[in-house]
Amino acid sequence: MQTGLGVNVRMLTHEELQELQPQTNLEDFESGSYHPESGYANPVATTNLFADGARRLGAQVFDETEVRAIEVEGDKIAGVVTDRGVISTPIVINAAGAWGDRIGKMLGVELPLRPTRHQICLFKRPYDFWQPQMIYADGPLRTYYRPEGADMLLAGAANDVFSRDEVDPDTYDEETDPETLPWFLSRIQHRFPVMKTASYRGGYSGVYDTTPDEQPMIGPVPEVRGFYCLMGWSGHGFKHSPAIGELMAELVTEGRTSEVDLSIFSPSRFKDGKLSTPAPTSLCGRPAFSPLCC
Ligand SMILES: Cc1cc2nc3c(=O)[nH]c(=O)nc-3n(C[C@H](O)[C@H](O)[C@H](O)COP(=O)(O)OP(=O)(O)OC[C@H]3O[C@@H](n4cnc5c(N)ncnc54)[C@H](O)[C@@H]3O)c2cc1C
Repeated sequence: MQTGLGVNVRMLTHEELQELQPQTNLEDFESGSYHPESGYANPVATTNLFADGARRLGAQVFDETEVRAIEVEGDKIAGVVTDRGVISTPIVINAAGAWGDRIGKMLGVELPLRPTRHQICLFKRPYDFWQPQMIYADGPLRTYYRPEGADMLLAGAANDVFSRDEVDPDTYDEETDPETLPWFLSRIQHRFPVMKTASYRGGYSGVYDTTPDEQPMIGPVPEVRGFYCLMGWSGHGFKHSPAIGELMAELVTEGRTSEVDLSIFSPSRFKDGKLSTPAPTSLCGRPAFSPLCC
């Protein structure tokens, strides 16, 4: 499917993978897909660049401004009450991530969202780890790795590995749990034997805005005219942001999207009982044939 869409990706045999990454233990891999042009980006810098781009096109961006209420006239949006005053508008797009259900509640709309923790560990690469470090989605070990800074390896786990209890996004524990370090270390040392001498450089947790089917809520909310959702990314919203921004703009201004049908992500699917069926899962824990997967 990806090559059909023009993505530069190909399958490599065990031998080809080994040649590409000689310091990796690939005994449990028969083959893998290789994306030579893929990479990662700093999410804070990327967000600021999007905001700068929007400003250049005439948008006003208010940093450090809290939405406290949403005004409605009849069944229509009328304005947004912030801690810096009221903005009159017929349209609100709820992109508040793990706080998105709270924005819904301002309008009496229930959005089924569970903020859950996602834990990350960092390890310093030893000096004799010389192979170029790539990004790995490691299916057999249910982990992923990527470079961090000049000399570190960052590791995260598939969604269903650690606790997925609901947390409060304002007060959750930003550290990692004690069991994560040995779990990650054993996997990293299996995959990269040279990391036997790697030192631990700490860890942290962030929050995923998790929905019941781990797919986002995108589109109009039928109860209130002018109210849209773009939230519930369940841990995979960053990579989709450029494409979904364009689609959302088209949906709001034209009332439809021309290239991709977003109706399967309708926020009302939970009420209508039309959840994506949980089927075979991929590394990230989402259905393997999900249209929005890593
Ligand atoms: C540790 C970790 C690793 C991740 N790795 C990846 C990855 O590799 N690839 C990927 O695609 N995704 C990844 N994600 C997920 C990705 O970060 C999210 O999907 C993405 O940030 C969602 O963007 P968003 O703009 O919808 O929400 P957010 O980035 O959560 O932004 C929501 C904003 O709304 C603001 N807000 C909330 N309430 C209010 C209010 N009342 N008034 C004003 N503002 C308000 C918040 O302060 C926040 O700034 C990761 C997430 C975590 C935690």
